[in-house]
Amino acid sequence: MNPVLTLDHVSYSYHTPSGETPALKDVSFSVRPGSFTSIAGPSGCGKSTLLSLIAGLIAPEKGCIRFYKSDAMPAAARIGYMLQHDTLLEWRTIYKNILLGLEVTHQCTEQKKRLAADMMHDYGLASFKNAHPSELSGGMRQRAALIRTLALEPDLLLLDEPFSALDYQTRLTVCDDISTIIRSRKKTAILITHDLSEAVSAADRILILTRRPGRIKDTISITFPKEADSPLKRRNFPEFSVYFNEVWKILKE
Ligand code: ADP
Ligand code: MG
Repeated sequence: MNPVLTLDHVSYSYHTPSGETPALKDVSFSVRPGSFTSIAGPSGCGKSTLLSLIAGLIAPEKGCIRFYKSDAMPAAARIGYMLQHDTLLEWRTIYKNILLGLEVTHQCTEQKKRLAADMMHDYGLASFKNAHPSELSGGMRQRAALIRTLALEPDLLLLDEPFSALDYQTRLTVCDDISTIIRSRKKTAILITHDLSEAVSAADRILILTRRPGRIKDTISITFPKEADSPLKRRNFPEFSVYFNEVWKILKE
């Protein structure tokens, strides 16, 4: 199967008046359609920089990043971005927040509105259509933020520590919730996290980065029995602690 995305020997440094900060060095990997990749690494190792490069917010200093459509020809990709803070606007209702991305990109057609409303229904937000963000729990807000992103029908979803602002218990259920939605819609996703248990529970591959400048230290493929089909279920399987220890050991080395 053709990849959705390839990174080929990508390096990046920040330049500030006080000097140069190399953030990433010689990073190469590719992402298959429908896969769930997690990127783990110490704080400040360049994880968010990597997502900004993939999103096209900044350009690589060296190397190149390519996206492919089904015909294996490089193409522009639609990218959905989800951050730690849900960035919902309090003065808009949940429905109007969900339509915001469509409005600013001039795609707010009847068909897209129907898709948004269907997702609100499927993911338990229909009765909160006219509520404002402060009336929702942290988990529901993240679900609304995900629907807003999915309404744009992105080819690739980038998630930058989207659960790290939540308390531990909420984080477990929201991660379960969001990952299950992403998988059920067969989306390709890249999840950045510094929480190894989150990476092991959600991903089918973990890329482990070194300290700054981030380089790929190792890649671990994650496979669980078919029944372990959600992050919460995975946590109850013996493979969970085996993978956790393996990733932990590589990070510590
Ligand atoms: P992570 O997401 O893994 O915590 P980042 O990608 O945010 O790391 O940052 C990598 C390194 O680049 C850090 O050392 C950070 O201080 C530095 N950095 C990030 N953004 C900037 C910037 N805009 N200007 C200068 N240095 C930056
Ligand atoms: Mg970061």
